[in-house]
Amino acid sequence: GLPKTPPPTISPRRKTRQIMVGKVAVGGDAPISVQSMCTTPTTDVNATLQQIAELTASGCDIVRVAVPSQDDADRLQLIARKSQIPVIADIHFQPKYVFQAIDAGCGAVRVNPGNIRQFDDKVGEIAKAAKDAGVSIRIGVNAGSLDPRLLEKYGKATPEALVESAVWEASLFEEHDFHDFKISVKHNDPVVMVKAYEMLAERGDWPLHLGVTEAGPAFQGTIKSSVAFGALLSRGIGDTIRVSLSAPPVEEIKVGSQILESLNLRPRKLEIVSCPSCGRAQVDVYTLANEVTAGLEKLTVPLRVAVMGCVVNGPGEAREADLGVASGNGKGQIFVKGEVIKTVPESEIVATLIEEANRLAETMDPA
Ligand code: SF4
Repeated sequence: GLPKTPPPTISPRRKTRQIMVGKVAVGGDAPISVQSMCTTPTTDVNATLQQIAELTASGCDIVRVAVPSQDDADRLQLIARKSQIPVIADIHFQPKYVFQAIDAGCGAVRVNPGNIRQFDDKVGEIAKAAKDAGVSIRIGVNAGSLDPRLLEKYGKATPEALVESAVWEASLFEEHDFHDFKISVKHNDPVVMVKAYEMLAERGDWPLHLGVTEAGPAFQGTIKSSVAFGALLSRGIGDTIRVSLSAPPVEEIKVGSQILESLNLRPRKLEIVSCPSCGRAQVDVYTLANEVTAGLEKLTVPLRVAVMGCVVNGPGEAREADLGVASGNGKGQIFVKGEVIKTVPESEIVATLIEEANRLAETMDPA
């Protein structure tokens, strides 16, 4: 068929330098990647690999694992070798683990600037080892572990403080002619976080890793991250994202993917266009929408399915979608590509939509 024109985004991507995290490009014209972090102890290799497999299946592009101890560092090689997606080693203190992660075949190493001062003299060695191995770095500035010097200067983790820390940290690597790094400046307050990333984006062409840290349980965290990422991504800022939730990591991937799909930064997959219901509704729209969503969750094609409670806006929306139902009088009019193909009793609406969706999906290319 004809090449598809990509759907419009709100504004063009900011031009950033491209780095590689293993096989995944980050920055430049690379698609925005979605990351998560394992909740399993890194020392439990089987559980960690199992979780990485689940994350990979749910669309995770890059996964991070914590390396708090020597035992964790010792497991990196096995994990990096068996993971299907690049593994980032998250290291807060010990330079020794950084070298070990580089040797282990990790795609990148995340280091914390609040602590890197302790191994200032090691920055050159880290840069050289990373460059020789083709491993990138994430400079992870975090409000919770900001350099005490900056905390004192600014009184708290302001956007200015986060950015000053990041730029200083970047310069430590740049002095050694090392440029394969991305930066994050995370804060739990979306307003502070957005301002910090905006300021940082003005200061250099580093690829940026977006994150609202400690965003909270699923509901609050989803909204905080969506709002903050939306503000930045809609201005072209952000090259890779991690949604932090106090919830299983697969949930983070679902939210992250949905944020990118909503902004046309990633091809949309299944999209349920369902009405909020109102006093005109003649069916239970919530149940209908949930059942249809559950029944179609596994589809990987860009299908738009409209579930409408009545015939006021129902037929219009249903016609705009690939497939839809407009309900009324205990019946559902089923639309496919704008045509009413049949009218079924209410009890058969869900099954009919699922059947027709699967039929349509067979004729479509995956998103
Ligand atoms: Fe109300 Fe009908 Fe609109 Fe649903 S489609 S919100 S039931 S008017």
